[in-house]
Amino acid sequence: CGIVAYIGDQQAAPFLIEGLKTLEYRGYDSAGIAVLGAKGTTAVRSVGRIRDLESALPKRLTGSAGIGHTRWATHGPATEANAHPHRSTDGRISVVHNGIIDNSAILRDQLTAAGVTLNSDTDTEVVAHLVARSEADTLEGAVLDALHKITGTYALAVIDEAHPDRIVLARNGSPLIIGVGEKETLVASDAAALVRHTSHVIHLDDGELATVTAGGFRTFDRQAQDTGREPVEIEVAA
Ligand code: GLU
Repeated sequence: CGIVAYIGDQQAAPFLIEGLKTLEYRGYDSAGIAVLGAKGTTAVRSVGRIRDLESALPKRLTGSAGIGHTRWATHGPATEANAHPHRSTDGRISVVHNGIIDNSAILRDQLTAAGVTLNSDTDTEVVAHLVARSEADTLEGAVLDALHKITGTYALAVIDEAHPDRIVLARNGSPLIIGVGEKETLVASDAAALVRHTSHVIHLDDGELATVTAGGFRTFDRQAQDTGREPVEIEVAA
């Protein structure tokens, strides 16, 4: 239902939690965040309110890149195991997703046949495994490989312990907005979560992807061609 992400020179967790609280009004049944720090990824998920997620966070949750999600369940009940982020078996890849992967059943069968153990009932989890199993040597290439296998609607944010300097985003039918800050780049599915931090945003188009780093962003299409988007002044609904 809602997505937030942060990469920059500050801690990621405070923005992720604040952003998820801003998105609470849209409704959700569970929530989670993953923070990428020097010691790898820490993911925490919980059924219920963002307040409950916040109480479940470890005291020291350091890392300056992270993704967060509020879930409105479509595939599988509202349980902690079905809450996002979803991760690859080795934990390297973490994914949050809004929307519906239409061909998830067949992809789940293919992954299971290939020896992958699925840990949730969701349509989303296949994305984490597909990205992890790609042989592309960039995260962008791995996400493109995964997108070429899936059909459906999505806003996606993906982090990779092997490429901790970036978050890769993709949009098809579900909103995703990049906020350009100073030494930080913020992402949300709703501009309401960005307005306190920046007035410069890029609304990704359907079929568009982006790499965001602490220093900026790059947008591209499914053929990996640059789309050259420029930030615009944010429009805040009254
Ligand atoms: N289809 C996904 C799920 O059921 C994402 C739902 C959402 O947009 O929150 O987990």
